[in-house]
Amino acid sequence: MFDVVLKKGKEKSLLRRHPWVYDTAVGKVCGKPGSGDAVCVRSFDGAFLGYGAYCPSSVLRVRIWSFDEQERIDAPGFIEKRIADAVSAREGLLERTTARRLVFGEADALPGLIVDQYGDWLVTQFQSAGAEQRRGEIAAALLAATGARGVFDRSDAATRAREGLESRVGVLAGEEPPEKIEVVEDGVKYWVDVRHGHKTGFYVDQRESRLAAQQLAREFRKKNGRGLRALNCFCYTGGFSLALMAGGAETVVSVDSSADALARAAENAALNGFDESRMQWVEADVFAFLRNQREQGELYDLVILDPPKFASSHYHVDRAARAYKDINLNGMRLLAPGGHLFTFSCSGAIDVDLFQKIVAGAVFDVHRQAWAIGRFGAGMDHPLLMTYPEGEYLKGLHLLMRP
Ligand code: SAH
Repeated sequence: MFDVVLKKGKEKSLLRRHPWVYDTAVGKVCGKPGSGDAVCVRSFDGAFLGYGAYCPSSVLRVRIWSFDEQERIDAPGFIEKRIADAVSAREGLLERTTARRLVFGEADALPGLIVDQYGDWLVTQFQSAGAEQRRGEIAAALLAATGARGVFDRSDAATRAREGLESRVGVLAGEEPPEKIEVVEDGVKYWVDVRHGHKTGFYVDQRESRLAAQQLAREFRKKNGRGLRALNCFCYTGGFSLALMAGGAETVVSVDSSADALARAAENAALNGFDESRMQWVEADVFAFLRNQREQGELYDLVILDPPKFASSHYHVDRAARAYKDINLNGMRLLAPGGHLFTFSCSGAIDVDLFQKIVAGAVFDVHRQAWAIGRFGAGMDHPLLMTYPEGEYLKGLHLLMRP
């Protein structure tokens, strides 16, 4: 194994078990490790810090896979154990869903590796040189730990370029998955297209919020003797829309700019046998649509705003903040008194505090009062490793508009 020796003082973050070594922290590399090769990271005075995988072309020069000197990452059985641990931690979710994240990168001490499960099929994303180099072993370990029929690779995320890796899509191990896979989450069925869908095919990270939407629809009907009228913005393949219908919503208007996503959403509604006359699918730009609805005087009991990542990095935070403010402001204007807003941000560069401030700014500007009565985040299959705060990206607020 090659040694990577850090500059003096650069060992601090590793001593706090944060798993990234930046190129600027590296003092000396002994030998010439290739892309993904195992290295031993040491402080300037030679003390062991961790074993990691090297990436010559990335600013994240080393990602640490183990902080334990006894646990060499090139030892036989190392990958198998890591994968088995990750899978076993998510066992409980099977009672609720057949769609779950099995491996969440750094949080599972498998840096840069994402694995989602859809029924009998697994979908991978290798976003680091280290995971890439070990992909054969990882695929075999995944099949062994889950009994899945096949592993399909969706390593087409833009982040791969930063590690010097090319895009790759195709079967990695086992059988070829079907064109669409049916999953069931909290009683609602969805088709997942692992070849063309966003991310690995589905937003598994919104499970808890979709359940909250389903429960809100149910409670609303009980309390008011009628179903709620909902507007689901950025609906993609209908995640929240279907959850609301399952909970007994009266009508759901769903908006997305992608005709393809809307067609899939309508298929998903049919799969569940929901009453089509109560669901409307609108192809539109949400920014313009919200303004338009206001002019028409439309009012809703619930508005959901789950936009794509507006801030792809810290450089885009200001522009993104304006976009979040805009949709939140115009979304709130469509709420009846006592109406609910589910509002989200999946931009890692916008933290929980900043997002709350942006939404508060929108509340202020619409001259209304609101309570936050709930907070949302990704489910337990996307755990936040406490020494790695970068892992948190999805946040949401449940607002109740006061009379
Ligand atoms: N809520 C969804 C995930 C949303 S993903 C779920 O739970 O499954 C974001 C969606 O926003 C994508 O489907 C994309 O097509 C859509 N989108 C992006 N920009 C948009 C815009 N300006 N107007 C409308 N839809 C947009």
